[in-house]
Amino acid sequence: TSFAHFGFDEQLMHQIRKSEYTQPTPIQCQGVPIALSGRDMIGIAKTGSGKTAAFIWPMLVHIMDQKELQPGDGPIAVIVCPTRELCQQIHAECKRFGKAYNLRSVAVYGGGSMWEQAKALQEGAEIVVCTPGRLIDHVKKKATSLLRVTYLVFDEADRMFDMGFEYQVRSIANNVRPDRQTLLFSATFRRKIEKLARDILVDPIRVVQ
Ligand code: AMP
Repeated sequence: TSFAHFGFDEQLMHQIRKSEYTQPTPIQCQGVPIALSGRDMIGIAKTGSGKTAAFIWPMLVHIMDQKELQPGDGPIAVIVCPTRELCQQIHAECKRFGKAYNLRSVAVYGGGSMWEQAKALQEGAEIVVCTPGRLIDHVKKKATSLLRVTYLVFDEADRMFDMGFEYQVRSIANNVRPDRQTLLFSATFRRKIEKLARDILVDPIRVVQ
């Protein structure tokens, strides 16, 4: 597979060319067409596999479609991950590729200023990258709303469970409309992750790095 096979438009291809990636990684070859088709997906993949771009590129296509169908406020895509560092990395990739369509991304994570994050959320963004507890805090304080979310990603789910975020992860899934598309990434596929996948995904396709 080459990047041309994904059928991305010229604006997104331009951003991908700027990144100087020569070819898609295996998780991208398998995952991108599945995510583009609208199906739920479980990706068993580690850091370094290129998994971030595998969910970001289809996310951008999804957002551009949904923006016309669903005008309004609040993010269309939410990416939930375990740590501040990962949040910042994913947010940087969202901004880099999101330039294709002038999409806005906001990162909200524990340890950062609640007030500054709330202000950024209220200014508006199609993409929110977050740690689980902090997103819930902002939703409770009505700094943002999950009503418009139709693309939901849980990245490094096993690590979120190890850090004690299972309740928050499930709570986020339960508070996003059921007709969403959900992607779950995890380095391992243990019993508890399998159970989570059964509870929050609909008829998912499984991709192994
Ligand atoms: P990730 O596994 O998503 O954390 O990505 C690991 C690193 O690989 C990041 O620095 C990405 O920018 C880079 N990367 C992602 N996709 C590709 C690709 N197709 N070719 C080369 N590098 C890539």
